[in-house]
Amino acid sequence: MKREETAGVRIGLEIHCQLTALKTKLFCPCSSDYRGRQPNELVCPVCFGLPGTLPVLNGKGVEYAIRIANALGCKVAGETNFYRKNYFYPDLSKNFQISQYDKAGGVPIASGGHVQLGGKRVRIRRIQLEEDPGKLTYEGTIEKSSYSLVDYNRAGIALVEIVTEPDFETAKEAKVFLERLRSTIEALGVSDGELEGAMRCDANISVAGGEARVEVKNISSFREVEKALNYEILRQGTFSGTGGLAVSETRHWDERRSITISLRLKEGEQDYRYFPEPDIPAVILSQGYLEQVRSATPEVPEARAERYVRELNLAPQTAEELSRDEGLSLFFEETVRSFKKGPEIANWLLGEVPEQTRPKLTGEERSVTPQGLSELLAMLDSGRVTRPQAKEIFKQMTATGNRPSELKGSETEGVVADEGAIEKVVSRLIGEGEVAREAKRNPKAFNYLVGQVLRLEPRADPKVVAKTIARMIGEQ
Ligand code: ZN
Ligand code: MN
Repeated sequence: MKREETAGVRIGLEIHCQLTALKTKLFCPCSSDYRGRQPNELVCPVCFGLPGTLPVLNGKGVEYAIRIANALGCKVAGETNFYRKNYFYPDLSKNFQISQYDKAGGVPIASGGHVQLGGKRVRIRRIQLEEDPGKLTYEGTIEKSSYSLVDYNRAGIALVEIVTEPDFETAKEAKVFLERLRSTIEALGVSDGELEGAMRCDANISVAGGEARVEVKNISSFREVEKALNYEILRQGTFSGTGGLAVSETRHWDERRSITISLRLKEGEQDYRYFPEPDIPAVILSQGYLEQVRSATPEVPEARAERYVRELNLAPQTAEELSRDEGLSLFFEETVRSFKKGPEIANWLLGEVPEQTRPKLTGEERSVTPQGLSELLAMLDSGRVTRPQAKEIFKQMTATGNRPSELKGSETEGVVADEGAIEKVVSRLIGEGEVAREAKRNPKAFNYLVGQVLRLEPRADPKVVAKTIARMIGEQ
């Protein structure tokens, strides 16, 4: 068979994301708030899989997994089931993990979505629900450690596993995808990706020329993902360059030394002896239920940006920038209700409201209301105030919490279009003939002069200013 002659590197990702918004574990009522606790404090007979215990599926966990599936454009199964993935390892005292499977009758909760990253489409193969194993701590490095410690507080925490197709060609692409995924999942209110270990990533990497498929396990942060992938691309590239072959294996990313080390030869799926979990019945997800979840799912930034472009005429880049800030997006939408020009509101919010002022609109110290901004933008739009005036009024609004109509000050008194008044300011600036002569030959100097007049008299109508200056320097 002819091999596809595409660029050399193929990377697929497998992301494990803890549903940290859940109060309890996936199959028992133990608290899921395990960080900072004493080892083995949050455990029960179900966590350990002791004889006579039965797992009971956490319904909220199912709902949160469906939220993620919806946001990634996946198809949610009408009926899904759980499988046992058997392996003998101290992080699982049951010797199996309750997980899902996509073969031999197994149906994961969702499959077949995609994420668009600029011009690149990353396909999602499947999404599944499973339990987190316990946490092992090694003395020294993983390969030389003489003993390991195990903490089962994490055993049974709900995980959503997201598997992509091998659609990445560089480490950078993988990192960008992971960052996007994290912000999506956070916006869905199901997980806080900033928490240590809440999002973990395994990567499959193959380099053209070698037949090997290497899996790098348990990379803890996205910065480390990029480093680990680049290291592995280089390592495997060296093999194929010298005619040697990298072997298919599972490798561990050693953060401290910034290298991958061999853990074991790659398991085949048969090694896990998957079989249906007899203690959990199939889960039926009716259309009505799925509709209900869909309508309760918060809108993620990408969907919001699309809607702003489609319905409110924002430029794509403006829409994207705005929708990344949830508070500002809400403010924007409330403002649109009373002042219909979306692009003008967005430009004001992004251009005239520096980051440090945003809490004045969206935070607890909120002093500017959407109604206030509407009023201001309507004044600007109708020509009742100039832009410099509007900026000054906005400053006062943030300082006082008043609407423009409640402010007392010369700024709100309307535009000065009286040539006589403007003339006085201009003649003060022109003074002797030098400035006027310069402004006459040089358009830049002319514009500078207009700017100076507006600085001294923010209420002046810029058109009248320009006209007045032109007339006055013409007379010199
Ligand atoms: Zn438990
Ligand atoms: Mn998994």
